[in-house]
Amino acid sequence: MRTVYVNGEYLPEDQAKVSIFDRGFLMADGVYEVTSVLDGKLIDFDGHAVRLQRSLDELDMTSPISKEDLLEVHRELVRLNGVEEGMVYLQITRGAPSDRDFVFPDPDVTPPTIVLFTQNKPGLADNPAAKKGMKVISIEDMRWGRRDIKTVQLLYPSMGKMMAKKAGADDAWMVQDGFVTEGTSNNAYIVKGNKIITRALSNDILHGITRAAVLRFAREAQMEVEERNFSIDEAKEADEAFITSASTFVMPVVEIDGVALGDGVPGRVAPRLREIYLDESRKAAI
Ligand code: PLP
Repeated sequence: MRTVYVNGEYLPEDQAKVSIFDRGFLMADGVYEVTSVLDGKLIDFDGHAVRLQRSLDELDMTSPISKEDLLEVHRELVRLNGVEEGMVYLQITRGAPSDRDFVFPDPDVTPPTIVLFTQNKPGLADNPAAKKGMKVISIEDMRWGRRDIKTVQLLYPSMGKMMAKKAGADDAWMVQDGFVTEGTSNNAYIVKGNKIITRALSNDILHGITRAAVLRFAREAQMEVEERNFSIDEAKEADEAFITSASTFVMPVVEIDGVALGDGVPGRVAPRLREIYLDESRKAAI
């Protein structure tokens, strides 16, 4: 049984409880982060901690924990649960007031709720899906307008994954005004020649921590990066495509809406970026 963390306590998972009045439960009034673990160490912890603080600030939510203590809790959970490869999930909500109310509770009276748990995923780095590549479908992006805040409102992305599953695909790329925003839980890229194309940062997409690292490594490896909009039609004509996220790292995309990209197998760029990302991240892991 896992040991999880709830509001300052380490508990067996079946003893960890949150109130039915918690605003995360009633209103999706909460934010989260997912940090990967490789070799028992945290990948990109600093980036996730900085984005967490930004999400909290944007929602006027107080943080129940300092960055130093947050690192300590992550490490302790990894240790207690013997995680070598996997993820640490963190969620902070606006807490549990005494009744349901749209108005935010006073943070001095209602402290935020903080929950962390680990997910053990042996073979995360050596994922066979990375050799095969994934298939995506396109769907309309029907999410709210502040996708740069990592909130727990994941119903539409969850529906998107189900649409993909029903269509025999692995994920969905969401499209707004004719241009791809991102995947249901990842950032989206296409490759043309030696050029990597991905949507620029704005409120329309999550500012991926893996995205930032991968684009930095790509530029360091003299690859050209173009941050601009692209359509599904342009993507179907691309040489390659891929996604990035904390839990998938870099994953090639080999089919979009039933159209194979190039030879229908992972190309040259995405597997190389995956290798660089994994190597560099392991070296920098804490
Ligand atoms: N975009 C969305 C909508 C996501 O949910 C995620 C990750 O969960 C990402 C992008 C990738 O972000 P990161 O690389 O920080 O995991």
